[in-house]
Amino acid sequence: MKIKEIYETMSYGPAPESADEAIQFLESHKREFKLFINGKWVKPSSNEYFETINPCTKEVLAKISEANETDVNKAVTAAKKALPEWVSIGPHKRARYLYALARQIQKHSRLFAVLESLDNGKPIRETRDIDIPIVARHFYHHAGWAQLRDTELKDYKEVGVIGQIIPWNFPLMMLAWKIAPAIAMGNTVVLKPAEYTPLTALLFAEICQQIGLPNGVVNIITGHGKTGATLVDHKEVNKIAFTGSTEVGKIIRRATAGTGKKLSLELGGKSPFIVFEDADLDSVVEGVVDAIWFNQGQVCCAGSRLLVQESIADKLYKKIKARMETLRIGNALDKSIDMGAVVAKVQLKIITDLVKQGVDEGSTLWQPSWTCPKVGYYYPPTLFTDVTPSSTIAQEEIFGPVLVAMSFRSHKEAVKLANNTRYGLACSIWTENINLALDIAPQIKAGTAWINCTNVFDAAAGFGGYRESGFGREGGIEGLYEYLKPKVDDLLSDKPIKVAKKTAAKPNSNGQPNGIDRTTKMYIGGKQARPDGGYSTVIKSENGDYLGEVSKGNRKDIRNAVEAAHLNSSWEGKTGHAKAQVLYYIAENLAIRREEFADRIVQMTNQNMASALEEVDVSIDRIYYYAAMADKYDGKVHHTIHRNVTLAMPEAIGVMGIICPNESSLLGFISTVIPAIAMGNNVVVVPSENMPFSATDFYQILETSDVPAGTVNIVTGSKDELSQVLAKHDDVDGIWYFGTKEGSKNIELLSADNMKRTWVNYGKHRNWLDKTQGEGTTFLRKASQIKNIWIPYGE
Ligand code: NDP
Repeated sequence: MKIKEIYETMSYGPAPESADEAIQFLESHKREFKLFINGKWVKPSSNEYFETINPCTKEVLAKISEANETDVNKAVTAAKKALPEWVSIGPHKRARYLYALARQIQKHSRLFAVLESLDNGKPIRETRDIDIPIVARHFYHHAGWAQLRDTELKDYKEVGVIGQIIPWNFPLMMLAWKIAPAIAMGNTVVLKPAEYTPLTALLFAEICQQIGLPNGVVNIITGHGKTGATLVDHKEVNKIAFTGSTEVGKIIRRATAGTGKKLSLELGGKSPFIVFEDADLDSVVEGVVDAIWFNQGQVCCAGSRLLVQESIADKLYKKIKARMETLRIGNALDKSIDMGAVVAKVQLKIITDLVKQGVDEGSTLWQPSWTCPKVGYYYPPTLFTDVTPSSTIAQEEIFGPVLVAMSFRSHKEAVKLANNTRYGLACSIWTENINLALDIAPQIKAGTAWINCTNVFDAAAGFGGYRESGFGREGGIEGLYEYLKPKVDDLLSDKPIKVAKKTAAKPNSNGQPNGIDRTTKMYIGGKQARPDGGYSTVIKSENGDYLGEVSKGNRKDIRNAVEAAHLNSSWEGKTGHAKAQVLYYIAENLAIRREEFADRIVQMTNQNMASALEEVDVSIDRIYYYAAMADKYDGKVHHTIHRNVTLAMPEAIGVMGIICPNESSLLGFISTVIPAIAMGNNVVVVPSENMPFSATDFYQILETSDVPAGTVNIVTGSKDELSQVLAKHDDVDGIWYFGTKEGSKNIELLSADNMKRTWVNYGKHRNWLDKTQGEGTTFLRKASQIKNIWIPYGE
């Protein structure tokens, strides 16, 4: 094409980036990569290899080792061996290594960018200008956190050996998001890249060698899903961090249940991109391009559901179509293309099949008039209109360049449509009215809310999901907790803490009622409720004395309680100050009845009055603590690198199930229920099974303290039975369990269906009287989740 012709058509000529250095890197390994274990390149025990290809050309780039169980063992052993030294060198030396990694990545940034584009098929423009700068920034930022660990996070310590499994859509970026915080906090890692895109991880291994990172701190093992599963199952791995499909996330949740392994999951999404009628539509169009055609739509937080206010829908669709017509698709190394190839043939088929299903289900398909290159795995940008909210393409993650559009009339409807998904990774809100944007952002169930922007990331801001998009955060201080454990956890005991007994305790063997002689009801939706089954359970004291009876709650009672909790929408929306007022009121009312509650404890436990009074007094003190924290456990404004104010706000989890410890009948109840409601959750509580009367007496306190109906619901009965119903319930968002090891395992197993946030004790006991074990910000953190709201500023 002549310059004059180019000038006349204004079309782009090819602008290829050279692949020479990347090819040289591949050749330096003779295009056959070993595993990186203990700082060395090691042949796979199986001697089996698989190929990685360039999806734009289908050319084989290299052969990659298939790690089997023996190799996984070797890598985990190396990481375990490296751990003590890595911990003992301290924050500053670790910071220096992270800083060196950042520098080295920056120095080789173009090589990384080219290699990533070759292996993944994504445009060089994106790897060069987005992926790799974010990777370097991540290591710099976490070099800082490494330095600060023992001062800023002094109550915490490293978790140990971390198994990390990453996907193919942002290979090096996902590596950085996993490795940087892990090693900064003093852990060692074994990382498995995705089978389609292992090359930049292997180049990163070379960088680790170059900077002299101690052997075994980072190990990279390549392979398929089976290699990942072996890593997940390995007994010496203390935590799994996974990014990938919700399906595999659930498999991993179940596989790690009851093992005590820490777990963070960053899974799929179907994120809403909401456009209000006053939005700047030209900016919106560019936003849409970034939301769904960035990385060919293979982005977990892609704005794949376009929700447009009806009054502007047709105008916006017209503009989007015009823009789609001008998008350029082609070889990833061409600097002037907008879209490259999708990662693999199987991915292309998934996209094609789902698009066909969209057409079959009656939605209207639109694609640009141009055609894709014939050789690689290309798929054109695609827009669906006339989509119904329940259709497959509106619900399923397509993970390709396919946008589905729906319209709404009112703000309320926009929120409803946005939340009509099992996922909750991100949302993007477009309006020129900041009041409206900030009103909508907290109402969307998602871990990130971008206002008038989309797909912006930074190491200083946490990223992660609500609901089935997984749990845990990556980035920001909130992400560090995923790689730390409270030091106090080492003090938890295998046996319940003993309480001081009455000196002259005599068993009352005549079986006669001893003081209580009544049957308590349950407490649901602010009212005392009879059990659905009509049964009650006899409660005896530790001496075998008959104390009274409690209602035997069943599945139906739990369902009623969950429904009541959902019906109460007022509590979460209250200000911290308003919640604090209610909590203080609870404490005041408990203080008035101090002796009565202590008496009840004495009746149930036969402990002496002084220690019972201590339990009541600590309970009152604890309610004061959480009342005080209700408006002080607040968020942060993160210093992200873009021109953004990034608000990290702790939000309620939603409806939580709380299964109280059996011991410390009053204090165990207070220590778990009060922090949960202080953060705005509505709770369904199963109190101590053998000593439920402290909780049932508490109804009167709740009734007289302005606690809204449905905020605290109490169902008495069998802990095992009721906790399982709660763990399986799809409308319960989180669950805390303080009971047996076996019970903890069941909770983690059963919670996988809707990916509840779980906190279980694996049979360990806390001394609830001890502030360091029974109170603190750990409880508040577990009762909330961080939403990062990005608000851009400037022209
Ligand atoms: P997977 O979830 O299968 O893969 C992610 C990673 O997990 C890969 O390293 C994979 O290995 C590994 N893996 C697979 N099975 C297991 C297992 N049982 N135990 C441990 N690790 C395992 O995603 P896919 O690559 O198969 O993509 C499928 C779909 O997942 C996509 O269409 C998309 O919808 C979604 N996805 C979401 C991502 C996100 O960021 N949220 C990222 C990637 C995909 P291997 O590569 O060898 O299979």
